[in-house]
Amino acid sequence: MDTFDEFLGKAKNLVDIAGKKTGEAVELARLKMNRIQINSDIQKTYEKLGAFVYKFHKSGETNDELIDICVGEIDGLLAQLDVISNKINDIKSSVKCPQCGTLNDQGAIYCAKCGAKMSVETVAEPEYADAPSEEPTSEEPFTPEE
Ligand SMILES: [Zn+2]
Repeated sequence: MDTFDEFLGKAKNLVDIAGKKTGEAVELARLKMNRIQINSDIQKTYEKLGAFVYKFHKSGETNDELIDICVGEIDGLLAQLDVISNKINDIKSSVKCPQCGTLNDQGAIYCAKCGAKMSVETVAEPEYADAPSEEPTSEEPFTPEE
């Protein structure tokens, strides 16, 4: 069992290394890090907002201005998150399943959700498009022997 897990681990590492070589993968990793950072900022702002609400509720004060600032910050961060998510999707350039509309990785042969065959547009070079179709007949004319 260990050897199989080890094999899977090695295979995954190889895939990771191969992926990191491309500029797109680097950009994708950068965007994902960015997304994590923004998510963390959103969490912090929610906490701050919660702390203000708690404090004001306890003391009986109201400070809508401060709450509005927090809400504005969160809205700004959510907008940034949207932009980053869109960029990530663009890079992944996922392929939509013709059956169920699920986004599958580029190069997927079957949909991960419904199993339908993906209509992959392969840009195949027509190798013999201009070659003459009639081949010269190398056959000797049949001459019946007597
Ligand atoms: Zn599908």
